[in-house]
Amino acid sequence: MGIKSNLEIVKKTFKNPNCLLVAVSKTKPIEDLREAYEAGIRDFGENKVQEIQEKYPLLPPDVRWHMIGHLQTNKVKYIANIVHLIHGVDSFKLLQEINKQGKKINRIIPCLLQIHIAKEETKFGFDQGELEEMLGSQEFAALTHVEIQGLMGMATFTEDQKLLNELSMGMSGDYLIAQEEGSTMVRIGSAILVAEVNSFLNQELSS
Ligand SMILES: *Cc1c(COP(=O)(O)O)cnc(C)c1O
Repeated sequence: MGIKSNLEIVKKTFKNPNCLLVAVSKTKPIEDLREAYEAGIRDFGENKVQEIQEKYPLLPPDVRWHMIGHLQTNKVKYIANIVHLIHGVDSFKLLQEINKQGKKINRIIPCLLQIHIAKEETKFGFDQGELEEMLGSQEFAALTHVEIQGLMGMATFTEDQKLLNELSMGMSGDYLIAQEEGSTMVRIGSAILVAEVNSFLNQELSS
């Protein structure tokens, strides 16, 4: 069992074959990424700016790097020209900084807004009210170098989701449910980049 067969199994279980699989390669050695690349993966998810910077020159240029973790404002400049999609934009301040860096290098940077339900204790992301307020604001309309492609997080934001194309939702343990709920991209780490297929998948295959 290896990365290639894990990948095949994961793909086989997909409820939506058009859902993009982002292979979450954080903390994994470059050899694992190369193996996943050989098996056809082009989308890699990392949660640290430094790791993207280190791994980016070591893989072919057709790799699409997804920033899936919390992104600090002062680090946007290091990945502005590399990153394919920033999944977790969790504040207007961060969005403004991405816009600023995009302007500098004349690039419109694709972003997803991270959302959380108001009841959650998390300090990151927008709740529904904050999201709607921002999307309707003049400050938001003035941003020229970011493209909001969708949301990262929960499926309950169906009203807002209609306005946007992408929904990044689902990990190794819940990507099947996420796909049923309308996810367009799943971020899968351990089910692929761990040497053995997890029991969840075996269960899924035998049912
Ligand atoms: C690590 C991580 C994942 C992947 O989690 P697995 O359970 O290993 O599939 C997905 N999304 C984010 C934001 C992560 O940090």
